[in-house]
Amino acid sequence: MAETIGFIGLGNMGLPMVEQLLKAGYAVRAFDLSEPALKQASEAGATIAKSISDAAQSATTVITMLPAGQHVRAVYLGDDGLIASAAAGTLLIDSSTIDVETSREVGTAAAGSRLEMIDAPVTGGVMAARVGKLNFMVGGTEQAFERARPVLDVMGQKLFYAGPQGSGIGVKICNNMSLGISMIAAAETLMMAKRLGLDLERTYEIVTNASGQNWALSNYCPLPGFVEGVPSGNGYKPGFTAEMMRKDLRLSQDAARSVDACTPLAAHALSIFSHFCDSGDSQTDYSGISKLIGGDAWDYPFDPGQE
Ligand code: NAD
Repeated sequence: MAETIGFIGLGNMGLPMVEQLLKAGYAVRAFDLSEPALKQASEAGATIAKSISDAAQSATTVITMLPAGQHVRAVYLGDDGLIASAAAGTLLIDSSTIDVETSREVGTAAAGSRLEMIDAPVTGGVMAARVGKLNFMVGGTEQAFERARPVLDVMGQKLFYAGPQGSGIGVKICNNMSLGISMIAAAETLMMAKRLGLDLERTYEIVTNASGQNWALSNYCPLPGFVEGVPSGNGYKPGFTAEMMRKDLRLSQDAARSVDACTPLAAHALSIFSHFCDSGDSQTDYSGISKLIGGDAWDYPFDPGQE
């Protein structure tokens, strides 16, 4: 009989991850608060669970892919939550991007209930999730990491062990701080080239082969016509919403404050994404920031560092 995996959080990322697990022959018990998400998971071949505890029924592993720390707290620490209901020995994998403190607190509670837990946030986004090519950065014991490896392998192409519980999420926050800054840099580069009347195709080719190259520009270009299958070519439908990027940049600033780290560019990137979200674009893909960057300099609407 196929091994059963519980999966909670069937959004932009969770659903394609479930599809990969089903394709690899796992049985999946899926739960979400959203009816349309449940319907899609059912159409993909998952068994629909009625609750969090029902998703953990007969599962050897439960994966969560939730928006933010408060959702992870609710799903793990609530009365009907995973820690109260999962059978001893179950492996819990949280792939959500959340704060380090919540991740450590939930991990400690799991260990206290004889459950194994890893934090395993991802990079690569929806496109990578659809083809099972996410990169996982894992925090927890090495033993739990090895136990999770076969399941993570199905959804990912690269698995990195980062250190004890909370380390995966720590690395992820640092990574996304860099991503938020570099998406703005990519947009500024192309938008200024456009205003200078430069040939954009040639500019793109040169910069992506020169020292100004970055991942956002090369793989997730914020202007349409350069990279296939990215949100800029699809009306900036997410993908990864601007609201999620705002959340991650806020996480970076909370983390920076907690250790007195100097991160002025990330502070400014947060103010830019915040303005974008508050102007009605919170559900636009984060690469849509090029719409704001494409405006006139004298319309630049806020002071650096102010959210
Ligand atoms: P999403 O908002 O599309 O999906 C989250 C899902 O969780 C929703 O379907 C929601 O209904 C469900 N949910 C919320 N609370 C719940 C609860 N209490 N019980 C059950 N279900 C609940 O978000 P997403 O884009 O899939 O992102 C999920 C996580 O992955 C986030 O932490 C995000 O930062 C991270 N992430 C996203 C991307 C991306 O490209 N979208 C890339 C890397 C990491």
